[in-house]
Amino acid sequence: MDDPPEVAAPEVTIVGAGLVGCLLACFLARRGHAVTVYERRPDPREENAGRSRSINLAISERGIDALRRVGLDETVLKAALPMPGRMMHAPDGTLSFQPYSADGRRAINSISRSALNRALLDAVGGFPGVRLRFRHRLTTLDPDTGRMEFDTPGGPVTAVAPVIIGADGAGSAVRARLQHRPGFDLHQEYLDYGYKELSIPARDGDFALDPGALHIWPRGRSMMIALPNPDRSFTCTLFWPERELAELDTPAKVERAFTENYPDARALIPDLAAQYALNPVGHLVTVRCEPWTVLGRAAVVSLIGDAAHAIVPFYGQGANCGFEDCAELDRCLAETGDDYAAALLLYESRRKVNTDTIARLALDNFVEMRDKVASRAFLARKRAEHA
Ligand code: FAD
Repeated sequence: MDDPPEVAAPEVTIVGAGLVGCLLACFLARRGHAVTVYERRPDPREENAGRSRSINLAISERGIDALRRVGLDETVLKAALPMPGRMMHAPDGTLSFQPYSADGRRAINSISRSALNRALLDAVGGFPGVRLRFRHRLTTLDPDTGRMEFDTPGGPVTAVAPVIIGADGAGSAVRARLQHRPGFDLHQEYLDYGYKELSIPARDGDFALDPGALHIWPRGRSMMIALPNPDRSFTCTLFWPERELAELDTPAKVERAFTENYPDARALIPDLAAQYALNPVGHLVTVRCEPWTVLGRAAVVSLIGDAAHAIVPFYGQGANCGFEDCAELDRCLAETGDDYAAALLLYESRRKVNTDTIARLALDNFVEMRDKVASRAFLARKRAEHA
């Protein structure tokens, strides 16, 4: 009997080698698929590759479950700092700890974003079927033919792929190529709050605050949070209406605002005014779009992670959610026998309802974090829940 004809491995292009694009590449390569990942930035593992968006992020069981499925949970958790609760900082410096679970044992994990990205890139590089193309910025995409054009240091490069997945973040270029098609809904909602990162250095070689907590300074109109880093520093993220952030335009104004609102944190940041002047203001957007998956004449194009559903960071679930997308798509591929068109439609039908919900919860949690976590009623309710 003749040997059965060899079936070529499905070929997939992922645009974006951020957290979600890399994890997706691992899932697909593990299925034996040929994957090419295009990333506009240089390889972050190179020296002087530049700083990424925020320094650390909280990864919870949702994200860890997805990492576990590709065998990366232990590598990632080794460098993580568990935070089993949140520490509230009152204006007078009083601290109160609120555990995340009744037994106090469950924790979210503070993880360096760049270390996580590097670990994922190393894992991607370990699969023979994956090609990584850095310094390739997608500029054009035809969803009907799968033809793409990239800007590279050596000039424009074109490529064609039958399956293209946009993992290129909240400002997705892939999504931008889909949004003018009839029937494509896009809703973008900017919060009038911006954020600024500040660093609390180690004090006498040790953490200046308890490293076993996510620290929160709720102040009604503004709010600050801080997560610990393995080098014993903390990264603070200050959220404030954009106009008021911009109004702090002299060292004296920054000094006054911090002394009034965050006196205990102020004492831990010796070069506060210099950091404030140097660090940029980040913007906060919720993106909802539909459909995520478009079937062209010769290609299927889909979205994943922030490209499909960017959310505000107040639930600490954006990356976790993107990781869950990857695990779900992997399940859908298994259920459809690696039929990408069917799998991507199925994945979207299962994930969209969940990502819409977390987007809403994340906005609600902003009100809770900046305001209600400190209220007496809230604290009494929490105490009753844990009694
Ligand atoms: P991104 O991380 O944005 O990666 C997209 C990649 O695509 C980038 O590498 C980019 O360079 C590349 N790219 C973009 N355009 C192109 C192009 N045209 N061509 C080629 N490549 C391109 N989430 C959590 O789970 N926990 C947290 O604690 C948390 N904290 C956060 C705090 C802040 C202040 C913010 C802003 C977000 C936070 N998030 C958190 C959300 C999290 O950062 C995102 O959900 C996550 O980074 C999304 O990953 P992604 O890979 O989809 O997109």
